[in-house]
Amino acid sequence: MTNLLDLDLDAMVRFLEGLGEKRFRAVQLFRWIHQKGARDFADMTDLAKGLRSKLPEVCSLNVLPVLSRQDSSDGTIKWLFDVGDGNAVETVFIPEDDRGTLCVSSQAGCAVGCRFCSTGHQGFSRNLSTGEILAQLWQAEHFLRHHLKRTDRVITNVVMMGMGEPLQNYSALLPALKVMLDDHGYGLSRRRVTVSTSGVVPMMDRLARDCPVALAVSLHAPNDALRNDLVPLNRKYPLSELLDACLRYLPAAPRDFVTFEYCMLSGVNDQPEHARQLLDLLRLHGGQGVPCKINLIPFNPFPDSGLSCSDRPVVQQFARMLNEGGIVTTVRKTRGDDIDAACGQLAGDVLDRTNAAQRLARLRNGSVRPVRIVRSERQA
Ligand code: SAH
Ligand code: SF4
Repeated sequence: MTNLLDLDLDAMVRFLEGLGEKRFRAVQLFRWIHQKGARDFADMTDLAKGLRSKLPEVCSLNVLPVLSRQDSSDGTIKWLFDVGDGNAVETVFIPEDDRGTLCVSSQAGCAVGCRFCSTGHQGFSRNLSTGEILAQLWQAEHFLRHHLKRTDRVITNVVMMGMGEPLQNYSALLPALKVMLDDHGYGLSRRRVTVSTSGVVPMMDRLARDCPVALAVSLHAPNDALRNDLVPLNRKYPLSELLDACLRYLPAAPRDFVTFEYCMLSGVNDQPEHARQLLDLLRLHGGQGVPCKINLIPFNPFPDSGLSCSDRPVVQQFARMLNEGGIVTTVRKTRGDDIDAACGQLAGDVLDRTNAAQRLARLRNGSVRPVRIVRSERQA
């Protein structure tokens, strides 16, 4: 049985051609699903009756069971989706005045194992399929339209910054990105879809060729010794190779800069010396430097990380040094604090793999009260 959420438009065309249908039927079906949020073939009134009755026999639209949904007092919404076998992934909607951003997961767990990341601490379970990546977007978008009583599009931006390393799940990621960009799908512009990577160099080159969307690179350290320790993938693709890959990406990119993410860890990577090294690295690399912006992310602590977030004045001082050195630097606002929706907190305790299966089972059979549809208010 084909899962229609696994298909980009070309694949949908091939699928319907296999049923003896013309291309425009695939476009119609694709639009019903992604633009109108239809799930029931009977609702797709402009499809020929014969096709409407045939489709349920050969395909389905597989959504993900929602284990919980939490609404933050600041409007942020976090879903925990069940992807089977004791695995769950998280998706976060972050509303702002001029946009609605969905933070999407690409894997259950992550094999990169960054020291400051709770997903990394859980280890790797498995890659999500294209359908599981897109189900997060499909379910969030159509839930939000209903919830906010809107008929127009609610999600205007997608960031692949949830759980997992998207470029280590490239074959599933690529069709999902195509559906996000497709005018018959979500119609998002390439600059409103961001892939965040810890630096899988060969796949950055492939992304530039296949589907160049906005790129965010998780840097976190200004030298190889420290980055080896924080982001183990650096041992395979050290900073000079990573920055070369950024320079190769830029000509294809929808923006003329790369965003570097830098998680502020107290006493580890937040000293003035680190800011100076970072400036030298990014201004001098390749002779011309790397056109970039830096996003400082306050570290979100989680149990057993052994790390803490830099104090606010330290973050401000670090940002000031970088800005004065000529690199536009912003400090990321944390959103959804009251529901643990910030970076690196995703799926916190539920996904601690040592007890994930038990806990998911308890959530399912109701012996643990799920955090479902609670509106948590920040304590004064
Ligand atoms: N694997 C990809 C995308 C998912 S992580 C990547 O690493 O880029 C998304 C962002 O959250 C990354 O920049 C990551 O470094 C950051 N992050 C992870 N854990 C964090 C934590 N505990 N506090 C703050 N940011 C964190
Ligand atoms: Fe994986 Fe990104 Fe977390 Fe590193 S920060 S462990 S790459 S999800």
